[in-house]
Amino acid sequence: MLAPRVFSLLIASVLLLATPLKANEYLFMGTGNVSGVYYPIGNALCRLMEVNQTQRKISCTAESSGGSIDNVSSLLKGEVDLAIVQSDIHWQAYWGRNSFAQQERFSKMRSLMSLHSEAITLLAHQDLELSTLLDLKGKNVNIGPSGSGQHTTMRLIMDSLGWLEPPQVALSELKPDEQSRALCTRKVDAVAYVVGHPNVSIDQATTMCDSTLLSFPESVIDSLTQEYSYFRPVTITPGIYQGNPTSVSTLGVSATLVVTSDMSEQTAYNFVAAVMENLDYLRSLHPALAQLSESEMVKVGLSAPLHPGALRYYREHGWR
Ligand code: GLU
Repeated sequence: MLAPRVFSLLIASVLLLATPLKANEYLFMGTGNVSGVYYPIGNALCRLMEVNQTQRKISCTAESSGGSIDNVSSLLKGEVDLAIVQSDIHWQAYWGRNSFAQQERFSKMRSLMSLHSEAITLLAHQDLELSTLLDLKGKNVNIGPSGSGQHTTMRLIMDSLGWLEPPQVALSELKPDEQSRALCTRKVDAVAYVVGHPNVSIDQATTMCDSTLLSFPESVIDSLTQEYSYFRPVTITPGIYQGNPTSVSTLGVSATLVVTSDMSEQTAYNFVAAVMENLDYLRSLHPALAQLSESEMVKVGLSAPLHPGALRYYREHGWR
């Protein structure tokens, strides 16, 4: 048996060895396409980790990706530590429903916070004179690659409209940074993008050619919000994009930041503390973040339980 002194020396040296490894944590975040909002926001969040001296324990890198579905799968495989995910996809992954019905539910998924609001954004070439979602029937619509959130969201909506079987729309799977050119050269008639505003992709598509944002008819908004609790009515602010001066009614979800239960309590606590303590700075880093409020960030669209580290921080501040 080891003498108690030797034993405690052993423990002390193990602790000493362990300390420097723990002092700096390197986290990877799955975001989205470079012309969306997730990517710049992921970078903004990572930058906050560097701002506050006391939070220096975390270093973080935001990686571009295909979007929500790819981010959930990278998080599940442990390829990233944090993921930005649409709240509808978040719900489906946590409960193993809809697009995740074929696989085991992601029960280890945990919420850190909710971010900006995202609108289901439909943009059509102006020559076609379309005005609502229902005018897309029979058209060629880009719904994004299969790893994106909009691909899953749009398939669900088109399925509810009875457009998938038999197929009543031609679906393209171009990436957001390819879709403006495709729209303006009439390779596709319209694009669908679930995204915060303003963003580079829609801005490009409305300046490269004349294109029109389409609205959701009130009856479709009513039936889809009744059927799916994760959808809510939202409007795209008038005048953000060239040639689109009026407000557009559509459906929306929230961008959420998720991790797994494998993240340590202290890391999750430090991460949310660095964000919340620098919220004014974060709001200034991207116009889609300007409206962020603590009371919404701690609850909107968070179907997976809050990570205990995040919950501890929110409770200390009386937000939960
Ligand atoms: N909502 C999109 C997705 O999940 C990404 C939007 C963005 O990159 O801002 O794929």
